[in-house]
Amino acid sequence: MRTDGTAREAESAGALRVSAAPASLTGADLPEVRNQFIDRLPRRDRDRLLGACEPVHLELSEVLSTRGSPARHVHFPTEGFVSLVAELEHHPSLEVGMVGREGMLGVGIALGMTTVPLRALVQGPGACWRMGAASFRRELAASAALRRQMDRYAYVLMAQMAASAACLRFHLIGPRLARWLLMSQDCASANSFRLTHEFLACMLGVRRVGITVAAGQLQRRGLITYHRGLLSVLDRTGLEAVACSCYAAGRSAYREALG
Ligand SMILES: [Zn+2]
Repeated sequence: MRTDGTAREAESAGALRVSAAPASLTGADLPEVRNQFIDRLPRRDRDRLLGACEPVHLELSEVLSTRGSPARHVHFPTEGFVSLVAELEHHPSLEVGMVGREGMLGVGIALGMTTVPLRALVQGPGACWRMGAASFRRELAASAALRRQMDRYAYVLMAQMAASAACLRFHLIGPRLARWLLMSQDCASANSFRLTHEFLACMLGVRRVGITVAAGQLQRRGLITYHRGLLSVLDRTGLEAVACSCYAAGRSAYREALG
C-alpha cells in the first residue's frame, strides 16, 4: 500500500526545476514585479501592496505550508510555481491546483481563514513576493480593486480545482500530461523542466508506467524531448492539440475572470 510519503519521496527525487528564466511581463516602469496578479492592480494599489511585500526565494521542493498549518503569508510568485497538493491518509498525495506568476498563494487568508487546507509544494524555484497575513488583510480593507481581483482569482482557483477532479476521473493520462506541461509552461514561462517519472505520476495520480508510456508517445510525435530527466517542450501548438479540454477551459475561465 502506498502512503502519503509518496509526495515526499517525489520531492526528494528532484521534483521539477525550471531551467529558463521567465521573460518580464511588466512595463518598463516596474520590471521587477512580473506577477500578473499584482501587475493588474491600479498603480497606486500596486505600489501600496508592493510596499508591504518582501522578496523571498522559493527553493525547489520547499514546502510553504501543510494541511492544517497556520496561514501566515500570502505569496506572489514571479518565477517558478507551486503545486497545491491534497493529502488523504493511506493514499498517495495528488495535485489539485497550481499557482505561478499568474496568481497568488493564500486565497484562504482573504476569505478569513487562519489555517491552510492543502500542502503547497514548490515545483519551480525562483523569486517571489511575500506578505504577512495581517498586512494582506489590511491591504484588502484599503483597496476595492484588490478585493475585486481577489474575488475573481478565488473563482478561477475554484474552477481549476473542480476541473482537476473531473479531469482525473474522465480523461486519459496522455492528454492530462499534455495539459500539465502546458499549465507548467504558463505558470513559469519556461520551456524545459527537470523532473522524474515518479514525481509526475504522483502529481497526476497515476502509476509510473503510465507516465512512461504517455511521455514516450508525446516524444514520438515530436512534441517533447525527455532525456535524462530533462523534459523540453518542442511544439506547444501540437501539445495544445493533444491536451484534454480542461486546459482550454481553464484558460477561458482565467480570461473571463481576470482578462
Ligand atoms: Zn482533463
